[in-house]
Amino acid sequence: MSSSIAAAAAFTAQASNRIALVTGANKGIGFYIALQLAMSGLFSHIILGCRDATRGQTAVSDIVSQLKTLPSPTPSVSYLPLTLGNKESHANLKQSLEQSFGKVDVLVNNAAIAFKNADPTPHEEQCKPTLDVNFRGTVDLTNELLPLLRRGSDARIVNVASMSGYLSQLPSRELRSKFASEGITMSKLHNLVDQYEQDVEQGTYIKNGWGRSNYGMSKLAVIVATRIWAKEEAANGISVNCCCPGYCDTDMTSHRGSRPPEEGAKNAVMLATMENIFTGQYFANYEVNDWLET
Ligand code: NDP
Repeated sequence: MSSSIAAAAAFTAQASNRIALVTGANKGIGFYIALQLAMSGLFSHIILGCRDATRGQTAVSDIVSQLKTLPSPTPSVSYLPLTLGNKESHANLKQSLEQSFGKVDVLVNNAAIAFKNADPTPHEEQCKPTLDVNFRGTVDLTNELLPLLRRGSDARIVNVASMSGYLSQLPSRELRSKFASEGITMSKLHNLVDQYEQDVEQGTYIKNGWGRSNYGMSKLAVIVATRIWAKEEAANGISVNCCCPGYCDTDMTSHRGSRPPEEGAKNAVMLATMENIFTGQYFANYEVNDWLET
């Protein structure tokens, strides 16, 4: 057998029909997550979920041209429309994935927004959009895709969270214990996030023991959602973990981050590809941490 045929056979065995979806993959950390998954040899299809078709197609072309430097075969790479936080868009994405592949093996929830410090939009007006995209959007999209993930093999959900989501942002011990409770459910988590939003709107959030960051709250909620899904989906063979990419040089940080985005991508890629994966963990800088540290 020639070496190229042997390589093709090995690729087919490893990658056979494995599908990975990365949200917000047209730039920043998400782009490098998609690129590194494409280069891993473990997938036959990589899908970039992006809200802008031109940016999505450009990212696909960029990844495809980088794959040409590798010995063939390499996975197919495509773009599908996704506006995170828009339920109709989530449902359309699910339908496209179902029709094309019938399943998803890896979902990387990377897309998120963060208002800049210098943004003049008042804190209370930043609250709902931040929670709607980063937390509620991520939850709704994931719930939409769970039936496809349950058909996957060694299926994984990787949530790109942040150190900003640490529990210690909440001054109230009572609130901390609610978020960290073993008995928390998705419905209780939504109620807590709704309560935060209401307190922000009414200007009572500081008095009521919440933190000062909408982004931090959205990421804390994503971390807690990770733990809830990990428990709920264990019986379905889906591992659910989250990570922090570190402070990265991307548009989100106005390029102030010290870490190149390709380095930041590695934590999510590791969770998406490592053998003998754990579940329900927070992973940062190559260590599994106590992810609800106080
Ligand atoms: P960027 O702002 O560079 O990229 C964000 C990506 O998400 C873009 O592709 C953007 O698309 C997409 N996106 C945002 N909102 C939506 C939406 N509603 N629907 C669809 N796509 C959307 O951010 P980073 O690469 O820095 O961040 C990636 C992840 O890492 C995020 O979850 C972030 O919170 C997290 N993180 C980042 C850190 C950092 O230092 N950079 C630190 C800790 C966590 P578009 O181009 O259309 O805007």
